[in-house]
Amino acid sequence: MSPAPPTAGVVSFEDAFHIVERQAAKVAVGQTESVDLLSALGRILAEPISADRDFPPFPRATRDGYAVRAADVATVPARLETVGEIKAGDSPKKSFEMQPGQTVSIMTGAPLPPGADAVVMVEYTAQSGNSVEVQRSVKTGENFVPRASEASQNQMLLDRGTRLDHAAVALAASVGRSSVQVFRKPRIAVLATGDEIVAIDKTPGPSQIRNSNTYSLAAQIQYAGGEAVLLPVAPDERVRLKALIEEGLQSDLLLMAGGVSMGKYDLVEQVLEELRAEFFFTGAQIQPGRPIVFGRCPENRTGVSGLHSKYFFGLPGNPVSTMVTFELFVRPMIRGLAGGKPQPLIFLKARLKSDVRTKTGLMRFLPAVLSGEFERAEVELARWQGSGDIAALAVANCYLVIPPDREHIPTGEWISVLMR
Ligand code: AMP
Ligand code: MG
Repeated sequence: MSPAPPTAGVVSFEDAFHIVERQAAKVAVGQTESVDLLSALGRILAEPISADRDFPPFPRATRDGYAVRAADVATVPARLETVGEIKAGDSPKKSFEMQPGQTVSIMTGAPLPPGADAVVMVEYTAQSGNSVEVQRSVKTGENFVPRASEASQNQMLLDRGTRLDHAAVALAASVGRSSVQVFRKPRIAVLATGDEIVAIDKTPGPSQIRNSNTYSLAAQIQYAGGEAVLLPVAPDERVRLKALIEEGLQSDLLLMAGGVSMGKYDLVEQVLEELRAEFFFTGAQIQPGRPIVFGRCPENRTGVSGLHSKYFFGLPGNPVSTMVTFELFVRPMIRGLAGGKPQPLIFLKARLKSDVRTKTGLMRFLPAVLSGEFERAEVELARWQGSGDIAALAVANCYLVIPPDREHIPTGEWISVLMR
């Protein structure tokens, strides 16, 4: 295990990630609600889901063909007496004990009759009258799935804390759950800051910038399984900023964007200090996103207490930094607040399409384009003008991950990629 990271200050990327992960694992999760299975995609299960019966509930043929005793067809060709037919959906009472030397024509999905221990594919048989010639041997157990081999009755199939994807939805459907109990979506407050930032329905003045961060964050929150609570843009002015931060702290998590750098009007940290915030870190050795701040504020503002506090992130205001730091740190926190199990951050590998040169010292997550087909994944940097370049990010579809000790990565090297 790595040594315990410092509790504040500028930390490495890995330490910052693990600090967030640890906090996310201990947050109190909210109430639960019942939702229709069709609306459950992306939600986090608040109850385990178990098998309501054996899966499969009967030994199920996986091929069209003939149910046999493997011993009867050990030597081929073998001639067997055809004594019936079982198709998918036939009730078990139609099945009968198959005697040695006998066979039953069987369809995919049908229950194997008692006495049979394998299925010969129809392709290896020739039916004539009341008998069939089997031209290929089968081993016991071939071409059917034994009863309860996938799951036995009452076995847990999906644990509490599982995020429901299409396969989990299918599993819930297969055990007859038309509704499921999930956690309420956490409410995530979004507070953009900056005197130059204007609402998107206003015409910006010559030195003003439209507020894009509130929208990227709202979209990322939605995608991460939270519910965005949008606050008005905060000016770079203490009193109003403080009031809006206090309002944001009513939600389950507060995201602030902008105002966390070293500028004279970057007031977010000062105001948080006034609110008796505890800071876990006030920067990470990453680019973009170095000034990121993570901490919590006591709910009663008279003293920090782990139980009654609200978490916040101060994200750098540069739009690309805001989006990247959300992916790296805010997403795992939202997952924790949503009741989900922690998820590792997974990097994939692709071949670098053209040389990359950077300075050492920071872990970099640079907007990049992943292309190529099948196993020939290739990646190259999106041409970007720095952390304000949303247009470059919109062209990109991933981030190239450059470790802090690399300054030149040559074309053709396998390089880590973070999907978004
Ligand atoms: P800051 O982190 O406040 O120093 O802001 C860094 C840069 O990001 C500045 O160029 C800001 O104008 C820009 N910026 C800050 N907030 C937003 C926002 N909500 N939408 C678009 N750009 C922003
Ligand atoms: Mg600012």
